[in-house]
Amino acid sequence: MDVIKLHPALDNGMPHQPDAEFKGGTLTCLCEHHPVKVRVDAQTAHNHACGCSKCWKPKGAIFSLVAVVSRDKVTVTEHQEKLVIVDEKAPIQRHACRECGTHMYGRIENTAHPFYGLDFIHTELSDDQGWSAPEFAAFVSSLIETGTPVSQMSAIRQQLSDISLPPYDCLSPTLMDAIAAHNARALGTYKE
Ligand SMILES: [Zn+2]
Ligand SMILES: [Zn+2]
Repeated sequence: MDVIKLHPALDNGMPHQPDAEFKGGTLTCLCEHHPVKVRVDAQTAHNHACGCSKCWKPKGAIFSLVAVVSRDKVTVTEHQEKLVIVDEKAPIQRHACRECGTHMYGRIENTAHPFYGLDFIHTELSDDQGWSAPEFAAFVSSLIETGTPVSQMSAIRQQLSDISLPPYDCLSPTLMDAIAAHNARALGTYKE
């Protein structure tokens, strides 16, 4: 059975060693000249592989690797003028470089959204070492929407499990619980 390529950072085992003292780093787009730079002044959380069709992926990858960080820790430091919002109507507005297409950060502007206040970033765009490691794989079944044959899905789930990324077809239980708790608070049914 051939090994299916998931993402360059995952195909050789787990990508990097997280560092408990890590305080952030700089994301750089893929432009050779005048790249967009985004400074992130914190460690990321909930890093995961995402199989949805919206998240940015490097060439040849079927998964994205995406993590969250507080939006007040994210600052565009160079070439802000090259950033455009991919889809203004999407709940997560992905700010991409209009030349190379790389998504530099995804931001939620709806204050009622469960994840308002968090930006979505791809730490593979940083040379800094110590970012949080991927913990799970989300929206795995959505790979089919971007062209993965159904017949490969069980092998993909097995590969993810083998590298300690539990595969889910939505978000992880922790994040699904966070969404439900947010909704329960809005409904007045939340108990703790
Ligand atoms: Zn670029
Ligand atoms: Zn995604």
